[in-house]
Amino acid sequence: MAQRRPVIAGNWKMFKTVAETRTFLDALIPQVRDVDHCDVVVAPPFTGLAAAVEKAAGSRVSVSAQNVHWEKEGAFTGEVSVGMLKDAGCTHVIIGHSERRQYFGETDETVEKRTKAALAGGLKPIVCVGELLAERDAGQASDVVRRQVQKCLGRLTESDLSLIIIAYEPVWAIGTGRTATPEVAAEMHAEIRKIIREIFGDAAAGAIRILYGGSVKPDNISALMKKDDIDGALVCGASLDAKSFAAIIKYL
Ligand code: PEP
Repeated sequence: MAQRRPVIAGNWKMFKTVAETRTFLDALIPQVRDVDHCDVVVAPPFTGLAAAVEKAAGSRVSVSAQNVHWEKEGAFTGEVSVGMLKDAGCTHVIIGHSERRQYFGETDETVEKRTKAALAGGLKPIVCVGELLAERDAGQASDVVRRQVQKCLGRLTESDLSLIIIAYEPVWAIGTGRTATPEVAAEMHAEIRKIIREIFGDAAAGAIRILYGGSVKPDNISALMKKDDIDGALVCGASLDAKSFAAIIKYL
């Protein structure tokens, strides 16, 4: 079985000022100094990125943005380019979060464009997929996720794919306190790995890391991480407090 290094990532959404970013990392970094079993990523808002990079220097914590535009520069008010994020010291970028899809017109097509631009510029994309509650209730969850994976990632090369992390985030579980059971999550992770296998083959499917996101907390992370196809977590609510995020990171 492929050995995939787990990833625990915190998506801060629109939370934390620059000062709060510094305070958080001052509290987190000593708690995770000896953590060797997983990669740790934090994704502050754009304004906190430079401070996070400065604080995380020399630690095990990597810094991610929450979005990126596909053009290098230009008249795109409110957008930020790959070069700007690299310049700020980011290594990762979250792309296609369900809130971007639901409230800001993100589509599978724009997710693909952002992903390609991130890869071309040397950022590691964390690409989010996941079905709405109505889609799950209608028995369409697998079809929706299959479409998202195919359209967002299906035209990449195998070498592109090796730099990608997928986050499966059922929208009904985000910020609701309603975590998917480890069984439900694992079933979709296996399905995503199957889709990747169909497109890219066994090696790519065995290597790609698939994170679960949706109401992950210190008390449910261990059960999720025991599932073979779950390679980590993308966490918001419980990642905003350094003690609780550290507890999730130390899920072993
Ligand atoms: C998220 O928005 O990516 C998320 C997983 O949120 P929460 O952990 O708060 O459910």
